[in-house]
Amino acid sequence: MNTRDQRPNWRRELSELVQRLGALVDSLETTYPTFAGVVHEQHTRCGKPNCVCVREGRLHATWCVSYLQAGRRCHRTIPPETLESLRALAGRYRALRQQRAAMNQIVDRLRDVFDRLERSLRVPPSRALPRRRRPRPSRDGRE
Ligand SMILES: [Zn+2]
Repeated sequence: MNTRDQRPNWRRELSELVQRLGALVDSLETTYPTFAGVVHEQHTRCGKPNCVCVREGRLHATWCVSYLQAGRRCHRTIPPETLESLRALAGRYRALRQQRAAMNQIVDRLRDVFDRLERSLRVPPSRALPRRRRPRPSRDGRE
């Protein structure tokens, strides 16, 4: 194998990344709504002195959601009838964010491969330009 065969196949590498990006775009869900929040279960004491949460340490489980509103983190208890729909909305948001992260990775990689391609094609000035002609004094002093 000569050195020419060991050179990276830039076009193929870029094309594969573009294909991956295309597949990602094809897989995007662009119609269902999302909710930019995190649904989680919280275990709390209610504060009633004779409750099982105080007597036996069995805490109350409640579903909560946290989300940003006007730059502030908000927390709210989720009413049971809203739990499933909110979980679905938040789940789709999480999936969308994961796809965004995957897209960023591919785009970063595309940029990186392109930069390496560009560097590999660069010719140094010493090879691109003709040699500078310097008047050189001859040994006997005559031009
Ligand atoms: Zn309690």
